[in-house]
Amino acid sequence: MGIKVAIDGPSGAGKSTIAKALAAKLRYVYVDTGALYRTIGLYALRNGADTKSAAEVEPLLENISVKLKYENGAQQVYLNGENVSELIRTPEVSMAASDVSAIPAVRAFLLDLQKSIASENNVLMDGRDIGTVVLPDAEVKIFLTASAEERAKRRFEELSAKGDKSTYDEVLSDIQKRDYNDSHRDIAPLKQADDAVLVDSTSMSLEQVVEKIGEIIAEKTRKRTGIDKIKPLDKSKCKKVNPVRVFFYDILRVIVWTAFKIYYNVKFEGKENFPKKGSNIIASNHRSMADPVFVSIPARIQCSYMAKESLFKIKALNPLIRAFRAFPVTRGSGDTSVISTSVEMLEKGYNLVIFPEGTRSKDRTVLKGKTGVALIAAAAKVPVYPVAISFEGKLCFRKKVIVRFGKPIEPDEFEIKSGSPRELHAMKERIMSEISALVEKNYEQL
Ligand code: C5P
Repeated sequence: MGIKVAIDGPSGAGKSTIAKALAAKLRYVYVDTGALYRTIGLYALRNGADTKSAAEVEPLLENISVKLKYENGAQQVYLNGENVSELIRTPEVSMAASDVSAIPAVRAFLLDLQKSIASENNVLMDGRDIGTVVLPDAEVKIFLTASAEERAKRRFEELSAKGDKSTYDEVLSDIQKRDYNDSHRDIAPLKQADDAVLVDSTSMSLEQVVEKIGEIIAEKTRKRTGIDKIKPLDKSKCKKVNPVRVFFYDILRVIVWTAFKIYYNVKFEGKENFPKKGSNIIASNHRSMADPVFVSIPARIQCSYMAKESLFKIKALNPLIRAFRAFPVTRGSGDTSVISTSVEMLEKGYNLVIFPEGTRSKDRTVLKGKTGVALIAAAAKVPVYPVAISFEGKLCFRKKVIVRFGKPIEPDEFEIKSGSPRELHAMKERIMSEISALVEKNYEQL
């Protein structure tokens, strides 16, 4: 399911211009719902119906098919196969749209269409009742308004530029009439949703409004990912792991490395990419219980791991788990404290091993991966080392295993500005695709 942004407000508040600019910037689909009502209004006018009369307009709906298409990124409205995108922009059609929009059957007719578009895409939808009726669960709701005089001034300039002869007073009176109609109708009247943010654009420039609403969207979508609850990594606090610890860890590493080499026929590839320092994320695919060891051996500095909460319930294992700097994670809990603990471990100078798939895969398939890895990487801004562990079938004595380290992805390679779900998703996809490419390389040698 995508992210839904609802922008409601009276006529001429600049909703469509602003929503269009933001949608292009965020790569969301822009849906101008006013165009849908205008299309019904146009059809009613063409058929000589009284646009205020439900009895006359309702029967027409049976013969109407309205479709929204996107051509070169711009919304086009089709009425029974005819592109009417330009024809619906006259003052006459504006008034007709306002009239027909008060007819319950018209609203019901357009509701499903609007909902279905929103369910398939990240959308920025503008209208009158988007936050209250069409998308009551929208992640972001904006109520954009301006004084009637300011709105009339903007609309007048726009119409004059198109060669329309309407006077300023006529435009103002139209706007006031439409405001009255839209906010006094019985069904889905124009009103600010309780959870909408009010933006009054009377004395703001277009750029200022775009910036302000962009910030609101970024802030709200950040909240959705939970990134705002995470304390970012403080580089100045990043410690070096105690050299005595590193020395003893080196000895342990050599012993385990040798034991693993004897027990498994394991090859470590990508030597130039073995992390020499600490405070890195090591993101690997997950094939077996031995994976934490496989990925840690090549790293000079001790690693820290997320471990299933159930392991911590076995008391006898606790000292061992703690010595290995593991910390509990409850699967699917969406608990951001795990992310904060991860950032703390990186701050202490340890490397952090993550298996983004969240579960073991049975074969060479790399599963989709969870965005948690991106959330941690975005908060910590440390390099991410992709790793692939590959073997055929089940892991057993003398099994041929390849563990391959890829080139680290540096933090500035990710375009994280707001920490929005879209950015985190892209970041996760990048990490998973690097891991998949390394798995493919491994299979060339297996
Ligand atoms: O936004 P626009 O001015 O194009 O909308 C035309 C008319 O359609 C509005 O005056 C309003 O009456 C109606 N409308 C509506 N609900 C929406 C969008 C538009 O009632 N969601």
